[in-house]
Amino acid sequence: MEKLKMNQKGTDNRTNCKNYRPTRFYTHTQEIIDNVPYFIMTLLGAGLFLQGFGLSFWGWFAAALYIFYSITGVFWIIIFVCPYCFYYGTRSCPCGYGQISAKLLPAQDGTRFMEKFKKHIPFIFPVWFVPLIVGLIFLVREYNILMLILYIFFIINSFIILPLLARKYGCAHCPQKDDCPWMGEKISVRLAHLVKYK
Ligand code: SF4
Repeated sequence: MEKLKMNQKGTDNRTNCKNYRPTRFYTHTQEIIDNVPYFIMTLLGAGLFLQGFGLSFWGWFAAALYIFYSITGVFWIIIFVCPYCFYYGTRSCPCGYGQISAKLLPAQDGTRFMEKFKKHIPFIFPVWFVPLIVGLIFLVREYNILMLILYIFFIINSFIILPLLARKYGCAHCPQKDDCPWMGEKISVRLAHLVKYK
């Protein structure tokens, strides 16, 4: 509880700026909506592996491995990032991870949020980039229309809808957004972070 207060106090100090917006509270339905693009990305990514390997054993194996990694990525964030977040244990976390985190772990020092975010966010990037790269290889080696449709839907959902939803719907209301490496930096800087922390 003390650390939770420290989270919120630390963040309040940092959000003392003209861009501050009041915190928003999310219903369970809104939390589910926030998770839909990630869920669809996981299904489409698994579909790309299945289609690329022609519904063989290796196709099912790769699809299952990808789904497992995608779910692990969610819990990685819940365990290693959310305890440091201003939204930990509150209804203001747009996707609900902050509440799951509070059930599993104690709150940590909120002033270290940015450090933890930068360090751990690269863990979930393969969920976006592995199907993107592997799907392209599949397409070049053995083109078929279903593969192309899956690939296009994967790109639209993962690289347009999901980031847009996060930035306009969830992160837009975050008191930490001015300090957040995701909100405050251009894509080139984010990719540089990935290289640095790999
Ligand atoms: S806003 Fe992000 S970091 Fe904060 S509790 Fe929710 S999922 Fe975790």
